[in-house]
Amino acid sequence: MCQRRLMDLDARKGKAAGGYCTWLPDFQAPFIFANSNGTQSDVETLTHEAGHAFQVWSSTPCFPASLAWPTNESAEIHSMSMEFFTWPWMELFFKDQADRYRFVHLSGAVKFLPYGVLVDHFQHEVYAHPDWDADQRNACWRRLENQYLPHKDYSGIDVLERGGWWMRQLHIFMDPFYYIDYTLAQVAALQFLARMLDGDESAFADYLRICRLGGSLCYRQLLKEAGLQVPFDDGCLQETAATLRQWFETHMPEAASR
Ligand SMILES: [Zn+2]
Repeated sequence: MCQRRLMDLDARKGKAAGGYCTWLPDFQAPFIFANSNGTQSDVETLTHEAGHAFQVWSSTPCFPASLAWPTNESAEIHSMSMEFFTWPWMELFFKDQADRYRFVHLSGAVKFLPYGVLVDHFQHEVYAHPDWDADQRNACWRRLENQYLPHKDYSGIDVLERGGWWMRQLHIFMDPFYYIDYTLAQVAALQFLARMLDGDESAFADYLRICRLGGSLCYRQLLKEAGLQVPFDDGCLQETAATLRQWFETHMPEAASR
């Protein structure tokens, strides 16, 4: 992709915002767009989008061509997993600070799970109560926020104490009920990481297999092909979390004890 100039990564004046990967059918090639600005999120974005690029390129033999991209609930598995499969190379970017990057990356992924579920639960409540006014919707968000993210402290910020945070989550307005898909993908990616940390050498081969399958299978079937558990099954989260906890205890013992 570097040789064929299929990446436009640096931020510059006048450039559109955001980061994404797309497919250029005429060239049979992926293209990555980003706005790198010298922060650790540059690395997260590039490895994430590289996961999308690698997956869509791997599944070009899929027929019909529209099957090259996975369906919504599976679309982020490959990208989020690639973020973790690239961990062994992080010293190239961060030198002796690589574990601090891994800590921020992994703790963000873990903390995202209750947030993603909160966004989904809130939407279920809102659609079940179309008669609610704005205050009732805010009160519902704050109640659920206390349930899923009890550590959040908004002391002195009135709009957030009244439950206003949800209005910054654009998906609630633009893509109703899509948000839970990120958590489904995140659990799959965390399982790949757990297998990698456990020294399971078949983890990457399984990843390659589902990259080639593209959108030809649904979520549960893809996970089966990848040798991963479905997040809804008993024990999936506990087992995955146990391995991740070990990583925190070994690499960031001070943080793990908090
Ligand atoms: Zn993505």
